[in-house]
Amino acid sequence: MGAIRALRGTRDILPPEVVYWQQVEQVARGVFARASYQEIRPPIFEQTELFARGIGEATDVVGKEMYTFSDRGDRSITLRPEGTAGVVRAFIEQNLGSQGNVQRLWYTGPMFRYERPQAGRQRQFHQVGAELLGSGSPVADVEVIALATDILRELGLRSLKLDLNSVGNKGDRTRYRQALIDYLTPYQSELDPDSQDRLTRNPLRILDSKDQRTQEITQGAPSILDYLEPESQSHFEQVQQMLTDLDIAYQINPRLVRGLDYYTHTAFEIQSDDLGAQATVCGGGRYDGLVAELGGKETPAVGWAIGMERLILLLQDLQTQSPPSPNFYLVSRGDRAQAQALVLAQKLRYFGFTVELDLSGAAFGKQFKRADRSGAPACLIIGETEAEQQQVNLKWLTSQEQETLTQNELFSRLDQLKAKIG
Ligand code: ATP
Ligand code: MG
Repeated sequence: MGAIRALRGTRDILPPEVVYWQQVEQVARGVFARASYQEIRPPIFEQTELFARGIGEATDVVGKEMYTFSDRGDRSITLRPEGTAGVVRAFIEQNLGSQGNVQRLWYTGPMFRYERPQAGRQRQFHQVGAELLGSGSPVADVEVIALATDILRELGLRSLKLDLNSVGNKGDRTRYRQALIDYLTPYQSELDPDSQDRLTRNPLRILDSKDQRTQEITQGAPSILDYLEPESQSHFEQVQQMLTDLDIAYQINPRLVRGLDYYTHTAFEIQSDDLGAQATVCGGGRYDGLVAELGGKETPAVGWAIGMERLILLLQDLQTQSPPSPNFYLVSRGDRAQAQALVLAQKLRYFGFTVELDLSGAAFGKQFKRADRSGAPACLIIGETEAEQQQVNLKWLTSQEQETLTQNELFSRLDQLKAKIG
């Protein structure tokens, strides 16, 4: 029978790589905890309508990329393509805003989009994200941006660029949208097919096109920043001032329009030149329209999502990490010896040591080779003779020193061993 393979666009994250994932998760948890963000875990699938309404029909995500299916009860279900819609649904459904105070939430987990797989672009990928609901202040925008830059900085990633823009409020966008359509319409036939399609449906997205001719045309397009009302302008200026106060470098990119429809005011992306075509590690912004769009009370909000796979590609370039080594590698041979080794291993674990038990029953030479490869500083050996006398042989793999002692003696020396192993 043919072997079954993982689906295209999905991959196994094996133990040597998981070490990096755990590092990112640990750093993110710390940064979130220090800023009073709490973790939320919404479901991985939701009603399709949540994403259709919350992300917008005219986006690539909803139009082309969703994993949508009917379940056995004929409901239309979608595997979440991003995290914000589910968090906002939970915020509304669970009344999280009822106390009137802001909600600071973060999440991590798998997301699903039907895309063309390539480096840094998969069909099942993972995000860690933050959402701050209930504040329209520019301080909130800067607080969440600083969370993202703190995580990246603490991971040691320095050569990243923060692109910043404002997409204004709804009115600003409506006026800008029309100006953009007026500018682009004479070039309609020269635009790439996707952009032609977007000209009436979602013209802001044309600024995002990767097509060369379309990019040439949009070079001369009007800038959204010339269409901001004074209030939007002031919000944007305050964000910039506070970023400067925090020493967070940024550059204004008036062509930065997020792919999702619910964004207002601040939009930002963090990019790396080391990632090739998939350069964006983090994308986010303000989405004041979403909570009401999904049936809740008008609630301003701002957030972002980091793509874990892309972040981990950068991290692996920067540092080498291996899975942790055990403190002890336990070698034994023969039924009685193996049974005693198991008991010994458990006792050592209860004391707080990490122990790898060799289960092979193979020749000692083979087990010693594995002990060396495990990276453990010490090896404990129980052969038939030791088993008979309730003894154990302790061998330091670093110095090759060894001694035989009774198992009880070993236990009376655990504190000393702990100090030595660290
Ligand atoms: P892109 O322009 O690269 O398609 P996007 O605008 O669709 O990104 P967002 O919806 O803003 O991305 O998601 C936030 C982040 O999640 C991205 O910046 C990226 O790091 C990551 N991401 C998005 N789609 C994928 C994917 N298919 N595979 C891996 N990571 C992804
Ligand atoms: Mg995308």
